[in-house]
Amino acid sequence: MTTNVTLVPAYAAPAAHAPLERTTVPRRPVGEHDVLIEIKYAGICHSDIHQARDGWGEGIYPMVPGHEIAGVVAEVGPGVTRYKVGDRVGVGCFVDSCRECANCIEGLEQYCTGGSTGTYNALDKNGEPTYGGYSTHVVVDENYTLRIPEGIALDEAAPLLCAGITLYSPLAHWNAGPGKKVAIVGLGGLGHMGVKIAHALGAEVTVLSQSLRKREDGLKLGADHYHATSDPKTFTELAGSFDLIISTVSAPIDFAAYLGLLRTGGALVNVGAPEEPISLNLFPLMMGRKTLAGSAIGGIAETQEMLDFCAEHGLGAEIELIRADQINEAYERVLASDVRYRFVIDTSTI
Ligand code: NAP
Ligand code: ZN
Ligand code: ZN
Repeated sequence: MTTNVTLVPAYAAPAAHAPLERTTVPRRPVGEHDVLIEIKYAGICHSDIHQARDGWGEGIYPMVPGHEIAGVVAEVGPGVTRYKVGDRVGVGCFVDSCRECANCIEGLEQYCTGGSTGTYNALDKNGEPTYGGYSTHVVVDENYTLRIPEGIALDEAAPLLCAGITLYSPLAHWNAGPGKKVAIVGLGGLGHMGVKIAHALGAEVTVLSQSLRKREDGLKLGADHYHATSDPKTFTELAGSFDLIISTVSAPIDFAAYLGLLRTGGALVNVGAPEEPISLNLFPLMMGRKTLAGSAIGGIAETQEMLDFCAEHGLGAEIELIRADQINEAYERVLASDVRYRFVIDTSTI
């Protein structure tokens, strides 16, 4: 593996809207600062589905999705100082960035103005397509590799690399903690991690889900309250009550209605990535000096902080472990909001 490109097994979408199928993809030789990771588990994020089906446009095919990667270091380049063979590691949504812009220097590599390199569906600095975690091996620069602490099982850790950090970052930034009322909209992969992390941070947590179907689960995950957004009473009863609302919904929703649930000065932070734009009545934003914001994943240092926080608090994802030949079926279940709460691929079945 040290000198030549190697072909490794993977599951790829050969074209937009085509089912994923087994194939092989090239992995670059292990460079000076690279680690070769034997992937053990890969989470299925809803973003994988948006991209595999070209919902965000400009998809690069064949596409090997997967940016919730957990595995073990199998080989290290000569200049690697942070990892050794056998270490438990993870990779999230990006595998490189410009390393020079103000955001990179500040540890906000996800907002790299030079453009960070996506773990898949992207071109690396040499113009080669990147391939994600639905695969057996990946080569990643050690600086974009995370350490998975002992105490979190690797399969339950995989979803933290995207779902975990995507909720941890805004919860931390908007100071979720004791005395704060936080609502999480959508109890899927991201949402369930939001409930766990917000609860561990000491906030009073409410789930706003389409129905009460998953109420018992939500309360077990750490929610104090659970309401159905299909019930119009939810929007009158809870009006003006939250400091922070985080929407994880993968489809367009009526943000104006959710702004009405904020107290004066509260923030509605969107992390969902619907394929269609929305239109918004701005009056509910003005009336109460409210903030509507967005947030994307987190930087490398913050992702490590999140992993350490989760280990300290005994938090992993609730997962349904699947074989690689179940990926297409799992996609359909995610689209039907029938996921409890993250599908994770056992990559030994690829
Ligand atoms: P997911 O597991 O499918 O969860 C989304 C949840 O949203 C569903 O479980 C459902 O929850 C709710 N929902 C779905 N369709 C809805 C609709 N039409 N109306 C109202 N609620 C609906 O997906 P995920 O992996 O958590 O990802 C969620 C979104 O975040 C995706 O768009 C994904 O691309 C995006 N994302 C963004 C970032 C970022 O950095 N900002 C990172 C990762 C993912 P209930 O059944 O409880 O209603
Ligand atoms: Zn993701
Ligand atoms: Zn940068």
